[in-house]
Amino acid sequence: MKYYSTNKKVSGVSLEDAVIKGLAEDKGLFMPDNIVEIPSAFYENIDKMSFDDMAYTAAFMLFGEDVHANMLKMIVHDTLNFDVPLVRVSENIYSLELFHGPTLAFKDVGGRFMSRMLSYFIQRQEDNKKLVNVLVATSGDTGSAVANGFLGVEGIHVYVLYPKGLVSPIQECQFTTLGQNITALEVEGTFDDCQALVKAAFMDAELNAKMKLTSANSINVARFLPQAFYYFYAYAQLKAISQAAANNMVVCVPSGNFGNITAGLFAHRMGLPIKRFIAANNRNDIFLEYLKTGVYTPRPSVATIANAMDVGDPSNFARILDLFHHSHEAISAEISGVSYTDEQIAETLKSCKQETGYLLDPHGACGYRALKEMLQPGEVGVFLETAHPAKFLQTVEGILGEKVEIPLKLQKFMEGKKVSVSLSRDFAHFKSYLLAKK
Ligand SMILES: *Cc1c(COP(=O)(O)O)cnc(C)c1O
Repeated sequence: MKYYSTNKKVSGVSLEDAVIKGLAEDKGLFMPDNIVEIPSAFYENIDKMSFDDMAYTAAFMLFGEDVHANMLKMIVHDTLNFDVPLVRVSENIYSLELFHGPTLAFKDVGGRFMSRMLSYFIQRQEDNKKLVNVLVATSGDTGSAVANGFLGVEGIHVYVLYPKGLVSPIQECQFTTLGQNITALEVEGTFDDCQALVKAAFMDAELNAKMKLTSANSINVARFLPQAFYYFYAYAQLKAISQAAANNMVVCVPSGNFGNITAGLFAHRMGLPIKRFIAANNRNDIFLEYLKTGVYTPRPSVATIANAMDVGDPSNFARILDLFHHSHEAISAEISGVSYTDEQIAETLKSCKQETGYLLDPHGACGYRALKEMLQPGEVGVFLETAHPAKFLQTVEGILGEKVEIPLKLQKFMEGKKVSVSLSRDFAHFKSYLLAKK
């Protein structure tokens, strides 16, 4: 399969190059030349398949031409080996719990998959002795997933850029305490500033001539595409409960950079019968504004209690535009949007706990509330519960007024010592820091 750039000035790129480069030279995002529909027999039997087999079938459609079958099987198996249960929260609303991986957020799926695939491609490169520097901007969860995916991997150094004071203390522990080949960079700025620094680094000729750089954000195809797999699994689990419910499945995705929902749109194009999508946002409602007006106006992000969605210029919007040939009408027909204030998120978290006993995290709360408000009669909603509530301990405990149990996996991270390097949001500063490292 070849890849082209959403800016259309680059095409015919191999998967290997797309994964290693991350971003195309014309600053666009890579897209596969075509999306192959999976034969209907797959969907008829999907509820009888294991997650592994299902994910491999989908992975084969995307990567089968470019990655040896046994290797692909191994990557799928090793990176998706945790539970993704579909839990009934109320009458017609289900939570797809994506937080049972090592760092307790859905980013584990793409983060681990892309680490493995990148390592595989790097080994095949002629200059495979040269250190590869992975730059990753994080709003809280990508950093830990990618850092944990690459921890101790030879030949790779990871730089995690995160906005100072804007990630939760537990999130911060997950990438600042690891040491080894992981360096945490604390940026005086927002997530958008971090993302801009990373993008500027890829565009800088001098840096690229002197060191090998790649990205692990959802701009990377190996990072966002594997996220399509669990949409199949959501459908399969719902189908096992009731075919009628599966036929009317609406998926709601708490969205920030829109990588997760874009992966869902890919699953849909591969034939997965999702009725429609809802993108749930916090106050950073650039996408909702686009749906309302047809005009996309990025603006600086504002800090909210659902901090992993504090994105003012979602990079995967370019992929959504491309998928729908820039048709506002087509996009609006398939995806609706909604935005919630911190007060609404807090109120939802609290009332859901009281009424159903289910503990949401602030991101999942946006998803749950959107389904409660927007499901039509006969529809069945699945929201992606993107992180474990304990990752936002202070926020969640503050809202509920009660203690939240911290999973052992998380407690382990909190025992380490925080080490990070302070950076301004000035690119010149970042550049000279990197050059001094090489
Ligand atoms: C990253 C993240 C999101 C947003 O996902 P995108 O793919 O960037 O839209 C939502 N919730 C949590 C907990 C996250 O970590």
